[in-house]
Amino acid sequence: MQGSKELREKLATACRLLYMEGLMDHAGLAGARIPETGNLLLNPREMRGTPGRHPGIMAADDLVVVDPEGRKVEGENNPPSETPIFTGVFRARPDAMAVFHLHLPTATLFSVVGKPILPIGVMGSPFGESVPVCADGTLIQRPEQGDGVARALGNSLAVILQGHGAVIVGGSVEEAFVASVLLEDNAVRQYRAAMIGTPRAMERGELEEARRQVWNPKVVAKIWTFYLLKAQAQGLLEG
Ligand SMILES: [Zn+2]
Repeated sequence: MQGSKELREKLATACRLLYMEGLMDHAGLAGARIPETGNLLLNPREMRGTPGRHPGIMAADDLVVVDPEGRKVEGENNPPSETPIFTGVFRARPDAMAVFHLHLPTATLFSVVGKPILPIGVMGSPFGESVPVCADGTLIQRPEQGDGVARALGNSLAVILQGHGAVIVGGSVEEAFVASVLLEDNAVRQYRAAMIGTPRAMERGELEEARRQVWNPKVVAKIWTFYLLKAQAQGLLEG
């Protein structure tokens, strides 16, 4: 089977954690690049002979493998219809080893009203001065749309798909997961702040410093571990 046991289990675990946090349901996708082959490991369109899937019970064997053009290489299930997100972004971003596509409930709202997501606190600093938006508001099902998402993303950590969701990249599954949590968390805080006043974004100088403080492997590992333990405490993962 392509993709090490460790990578497969980690990606399936990320799906369970994203479900636990309300960031993945019947929609939402997670993908990782397989270092040995360059192929992509994706969560499937449907699982276990059903017409759908559930991220809370995603397992290593449910995942599918596609080649860099999105053709299925391996797996019981079919690749997701929005596979072009992964082929487009992984091709454009050699640094990305994991790409998630999530219908983030609050982060997506900002694109609906044409307001930018701003780094309003230290944990939002990894996203820079604002999060780019991809104007294509439809499902990303054709290769040229995937390339459009990659263009809108540029070198950023995340891009919002207009009224639809977000695409988040990471140098590892853990990084993509932590960035996903932080993006939605920043959006929730910005939304709440807007209820009581005008949210203030961090200034450029402090933004750089804060980013160095929180966007590093130590902090990523700490946050990933917290959610792993939280899932174990809630019985969503075996301890
Ligand atoms: Zn979608």
